[in-house]
Amino acid sequence: MTEFGFIEQIAARFAALPANGFEGIGDDCAVLPIGNREALLFTTDLLTEGVHFLRAATSARELGRKSLAVNLSDVAAMGGRPVATLLSLSLPADTTDDWAAEFMEGYRELSERFGTALVGGDTTRSESGIVVNVTAIGRAETSHIKRRSDARAGDTIFVSGELGASGAGLADLLAGRCDTPLAAIHRNPQPQVAEGLWLGTRPEVHAMMDLSDGLASDIRHILERSYCGAELDTERIPVAAGADLRLAACGGEDYKLLFTADTAAAERLAADFRNRFGVPLYPIGRITDGAELVWRQNGRPIELDWHGFSHFY
Ligand code: ADP
Ligand code: MG
Repeated sequence: MTEFGFIEQIAARFAALPANGFEGIGDDCAVLPIGNREALLFTTDLLTEGVHFLRAATSARELGRKSLAVNLSDVAAMGGRPVATLLSLSLPADTTDDWAAEFMEGYRELSERFGTALVGGDTTRSESGIVVNVTAIGRAETSHIKRRSDARAGDTIFVSGELGASGAGLADLLAGRCDTPLAAIHRNPQPQVAEGLWLGTRPEVHAMMDLSDGLASDIRHILERSYCGAELDTERIPVAAGADLRLAACGGEDYKLLFTADTAAAERLAADFRNRFGVPLYPIGRITDGAELVWRQNGRPIELDWHGFSHFY
């Protein structure tokens, strides 16, 4: 069973039940229109010890920040503003008061930085490792919401930052090198909340999502939901210092934004983005009317069986 096969089964099993006004499973957030111009966004992510983090290789404060950051990234990926979160914690009996206080301080720091309220959650004892579950709630103007399903043939594909640093940092951590700059990047993801909101206001931006599992996997979600194909130019993928192309394409947890935009407006968009944020957008390919993902190197197709992260195979 694959992670995404299982999610498809879940969606099919529940397809006939009433949606009660929600747009449900399949995007970075579920969407509930409220009034005629606004919508609420809902997303949740689970972090489990041993799978998402190693207790010895991350500080409690970093884990508190990261638990929130990965959820804020999903709200940003829809073009929304995160407004509130719910936090559930399952803690083993040996968790110290200090660890818990540090975790909450990290969570509070990032909540303050992005202006989100903590409005609820649950706290239990765990018989195995630490489990953290965060639900984030966002708001967006309905006309600003960006879905995975809106890519159009001819669109330019962009990423909003360099890729691979987090994957390289994870490799450092797994090799026991916990104090490298790349390992710090892996433990401290920066959700692109302002960037997502800004891109949401731009009508030439069509489909958008955040990069959590790795470009090679995540682009496929846009292609599947938009019924289209893509060509990716490997030489244009921005590789972060300390990473390599394979890590940039297949490593997870960079939390940059992946989006498609009308090619006629793409240069203007990138120039405006640079004026606003002081950094470039990276065009890495095009949406096609095919159904395939084609990797290219200097204009020629190349065979690459590249995939990002999946929880089950
Ligand atoms: P993301 O990486 O953006 O958090 P995922 O890849 O985890 O998204 O999930 C893909 C889609 O499947 C999302 O819309 C998510 O809400 C949904 N999903 C994942 N797991 C479940 C589940 N157990 N039950 C219902 N929906 C799920
Ligand atoms: Mg996402």
